[in-house]
This record gives sequence, C-alpha cells and structure tokens, in this order.
Amino acid sequence: MPTTEEYIEMDHKYGAHNYHPLEVVISRAERCWVWDPEGRKYLDCLSAYSSQNMGHCHPEIVKALEEQVKKVAVTSRAFCNDQMGPYLKKLCEVVGPHLKVPENAGVMALPMNTGAEAVETGLKVARAWGYIKKGIPKNQAKIIVCRNNFHGRTITIVGFSTDIQHGNYYGNFGPYTPGFEIITYGDAQELEDTILKIGPENVTAFLFEPIQGEAGVKLPPKGYYTKVREICSKYNVLMIADEIQSGLCRTGKMFALDYEDVKPDMFLLGKALGGGVYPVSAIVTNSDVVGPDVIKPGTHGSTFGGNSLACAIASKALDILIDEKLADRAAELGEYFQEGLRKIAAKDTKVPIKEIRGRGLLIAVEFDGNARQFVEQFKEHGILAKDTHITTIRFAPPIVIEKEEIDWALEQIEKVLEK
Ligand code: PLP
Repeated sequence: MPTTEEYIEMDHKYGAHNYHPLEVVISRAERCWVWDPEGRKYLDCLSAYSSQNMGHCHPEIVKALEEQVKKVAVTSRAFCNDQMGPYLKKLCEVVGPHLKVPENAGVMALPMNTGAEAVETGLKVARAWGYIKKGIPKNQAKIIVCRNNFHGRTITIVGFSTDIQHGNYYGNFGPYTPGFEIITYGDAQELEDTILKIGPENVTAFLFEPIQGEAGVKLPPKGYYTKVREICSKYNVLMIADEIQSGLCRTGKMFALDYEDVKPDMFLLGKALGGGVYPVSAIVTNSDVVGPDVIKPGTHGSTFGGNSLACAIASKALDILIDEKLADRAAELGEYFQEGLRKIAAKDTKVPIKEIRGRGLLIAVEFDGNARQFVEQFKEHGILAKDTHITTIRFAPPIVIEKEEIDWALEQIEKVLEK
C-alpha cells in the first residue's frame, strides 16, 4: 500500500491544484474519527464542511446505501423511480413547518446533487418566479446577495463573491452573470435601501447565509432574520436562506433561522442531506414559487439529481437527524465545547485569541494573528481542523461526538496554544 507521502505526490502530479489541503491522507473513518494509511488516528473537527453531521459511515446510512445500490442506483429523470416520491414527501414534511407557505400552496422541492447546484437552482427558480409571478419585465430581475458570502464555485456564484483572498483568481473567470447587487451582511436597513434604490418591482430575491460559515462563522446582529423577513414580505421579494452548511441540526436547531422563528420562502440544502456518503442537495420552497406554472419540463434538471440511491440515503439521513435528536445534541455539546475554548482563551496563549463565536457545533476561534501554524500543530496532536481567512480556525466535529471526546480535544488544543 502506498504511504501518505506517495498518495500526496500522486495528488500533486495528476490532480489540479485547486485546493491547499493539510498534508494528511484519510483512508478510513468511523463516527468522528479518521485514520491515515499508517494507522494514525485523528479527531475530525471539520466534518467535510458540515457534511458529516451524523458521523462518518453511520451504520444505518451504510445499510440504506448497500440495500439500495443492489436494487437500482441511477436511472435518470427520463423515468420515475420508487425512491424519489417518498423521499421528497419526507423532505417537504420535515422542512415545511420551517417555511413560509402561502394559503392554498403546498411545499415542493427540487432535488439536485451538490450545494452549488442547489444555489444555481434557487437563482433560476427565483428569476423565473420574478418574471412569471411578480411580473418583472424581461431580463430586468435583480437578486441581492451579501458581502463575504460563500455559495459555491460556479461562474455565476463566484461572479458575486467578494472573497478578498480569492479576488485575484476570481478575476480570471469573467465575464460574469449580471443581475446581482451586493450589500453588507447583517445590515437590514441597507437591504431595504437597496430594494428601494433598484425599485422593488424588479427585485426578485434576497439570497443569504443565516450564518456565514466560510467567512469564519460570522453571525448577524440579533433580530436581523426577523427584519429581513419583514422587508422581503413588504416588497414581495423571495427570502432565500442558504442553509447548506448551517442547516440540518449543525447549529443546535434544525435550521439557523429557527433561532428567531423566522420562515424563509426557500431553503437551499446540501452537505449533510447526503448522510456523509453521497452528494445530495435540494431547494425546498412552496408550489407558488416552483410549481408547474414556473418550472416546466426541460427548464432545469440533472442526470443524477433525484436518483434512487441519493433519495434512499437522504431519506435515512433525515430520519437519523430527527431520531437521534441531533439538533439538541449540537446545542448542548456546542455550548460545552465553546465554554472549554473560552477557558483556554482566558489563559496566556501563543497568539492571543480575539473571539470565540458560533452556534451549536459550528464554532470559530479567531486569533490576533496567523492561524495556519496551529492547524498544522493540531494535526500533530491528532486533531484535524481547518483555518479560514488567515486568522480563524473552525471547529465543527460530527454531532455524534461524545463529551469525553470534546474533553480530549480541548486538552490537545490547550497543549498547542498555551505559551
Ligand atoms: N453554500 C454554502 C453556505 C456553503 O458553505 C457551501 C460549501 O461550503 C456551498 C453553498 C457549496 O456547496 P458545494 O461545495 O457542495 O457545491
């Protein structure tokens, strides 16, 4: 079997260098632990960017996958399959109570594969709704997004990214899709002012992350979600919540918006929806927005979206989130983890800690200096975490982690950070 170094060499030689990973190779995983080819064991504190909410290789998900793959996996949407309907029914029933659904409308979903595809789908549906239902003149629809957003890597999406770090690279992918307006995250007044500046009759949607994960787990001011809801309702603008990272129990509730009991018009979901084993994403909205008068056959789709295997897995993933009460668990353990980190921050650390923030098990430690060195050292102490935006490290272990495992992690973190 090749060694860690040999695997990394192959990655470098044959794979495009579109990532800068930690120099660790994972060849096996279980729950919140991963192993490299030499048998070294690490605690996963990234969870594949929140894809592993229910833990690596959850036995029930593996069983659902194995049983389904033996029957039928992919047939394309040219035919129907016996998994998609029951899965979408469950998805709509789980997400529905968190959504704003007009009277006489039902909850409907559109299944895709990756997060970026869910975002693209949401944008297309929002534009189509704007023209067909809101009566926006052809090609005039505007969508408002936030500074420091992260919604994925397609051309349209990077076209409205403001990521300073990647600014140079994004500069090489133009020309970009027009029709987007960027505003400050967390500033509801600016949202209203911008809608008025554009002209409310031409604004079709406001797309935002209830917690900006990739920006470094940034939370908006209290009351923001409520104000956004009021403004979007006032001007008939779709409120689209990208909960691809923050949703599905990660932050201690089913959705981050639940912290203010706010119901958006559309959720974008991905990552943990695939149970940590398969790419599964979806938009969930209401039949007024994505019904047959808006999205007609041939206007959108994906060969793999809604395939039998994906639906069997995602259906099981939803069961586990609910049956294992992962939202409550993330809330309790997240508080415990944050408290432990605060105790470390209060001590004399090599680089001072500026802030510990987060919700549930989506936690960030922001340093007053470069954080990459610590990420490397955590690895040497058996912890895998990832830096973001130079000064911040995110801790987001699988929600199935135990308290004793958090205690162990805190000990290692302290060893690395203490002066
Ligand atoms: N939206 C959010 C909030 C994300 O955090 C991500 C990925 O990190 C995406 C969209 C894109 O998802 P994917 O990488 O599956 O395309």
